[in-house]
Amino acid sequence: MAEKVTVHGPVRLGRRGVIVHGGAGGWRGSREDEVASAVLAGARAAVEAGLAPGSVVDAIAALEDSGVLNAGLGSVLTIDGRVEMDAGVMYGDGVAGGVAAVTYPRNPIRLADWVARNLFHVLIAGEAADRLAQRLGLPRHPGPSQRSLERWRRLRELLGKGQGPPWALSAARALGLLGGDTVGAALVYEGSTAAGASTGGIALKHPGRVGDSPIPGAGFYAEDGVGACSATGVGETIILGRPCLYALSLLRDGAGVGAAARAAVERHTRLYGADTLGIILVDSRGWAAAAMNTEAMPVAYAGERVEPTALILKRSTESRGKQ
Ligand code: ASP
Repeated sequence: MAEKVTVHGPVRLGRRGVIVHGGAGGWRGSREDEVASAVLAGARAAVEAGLAPGSVVDAIAALEDSGVLNAGLGSVLTIDGRVEMDAGVMYGDGVAGGVAAVTYPRNPIRLADWVARNLFHVLIAGEAADRLAQRLGLPRHPGPSQRSLERWRRLRELLGKGQGPPWALSAARALGLLGGDTVGAALVYEGSTAAGASTGGIALKHPGRVGDSPIPGAGFYAEDGVGACSATGVGETIILGRPCLYALSLLRDGAGVGAAARAAVERHTRLYGADTLGIILVDSRGWAAAAMNTEAMPVAYAGERVEPTALILKRSTESRGKQ
C-alpha cells in the first residue's frame, strides 16, 4: 500500500508558520482554482492574525467562511438535509476544546476555541452546544448553501437508485462519494504549537453522527516542543486510528516531518485501506509536510521563511524537500 501515499515537503516555514488543508478527497477538476484560493485565504488569515498560536482559529474561521469547502458556510448535509458541524482546537500546552453536531454557529471553530479557553470540559455536543453559542452571541449559521442543497439532492437521487444507505458503504467509497473538503490547520510559533479542524462531516450522514474533527488525537493534536497535526478523511477510521497522535509520537522519537507524515498515512492505509486519510504536520522547529492516500488534497502554507503558497496535492505530484 506504501506506493499509494503521496507526500509534499518538508517545507521550511521558519520559527513562525502555518499549514492549512482543504480536505482529502477525490479529483476536483473545475473546482481547483476555487479551492486553491480558499486555502490560500486561510493561510493569509493566520499571517494577518500574527501567526501566534490563536491564529490557527483565524485560519480555520476563514476556511469556514469561504463557502466552497465542507465546513461552516459550505457544510455538507445530513441524510435529512440539515447542517450539523464538528470542530476542535488544541494548543500545545495541552488546552483543547471541541464542539460536535452543532447547527447554530456560523464558525464552529470559534465556539470550540471558547470551550478550550474557558471550560474544564473538552467536548460539548448538540443542542446544549448550540445554546451556548447563542448565549455567547456568536454569529448564527444561515443554513444550507445552494451548492450543498444541490449536492444533497443529487446524492439522495443516487440513494433512490439503490446505492445506499451511505453509512453501509466501504470507507473508500464513502470518502469518494460523500466526504472531502473538510478544513484544518497546524501552526508553530517559536516552539509553541496549535492545531484544529472543522467540518460539516460526511454528506448524508446519520443525524447525530460525530466524526474525528472535534476529537484531539484523532482530527488534530498539538504538543509544544514537538509539533502539531490536523487530519482529514473518513472520520470513522481516524477516530479509531488516531493518526495525529501517532505522527507526533514519531516526531518525539526524532523523525522529520516528511517521514512522520508518510509513516502515519502508510500505517493508516495498512489498517483501513486507501482513500481514507490526509494529514498536515508541522514540527516545533518550523518544518511542515502534507501526506495523503487519496486522489487529491488542497494545501497552503505561509511563514517567516515562505510566502503564502497554495497547491492541490495530487496522487501523481509527489514532491520531496530536504530537511
Ligand atoms: N474527517 C471528516 C469527517 O469524517 C470528513 C473529511 O475530512 O472530509 O467528519
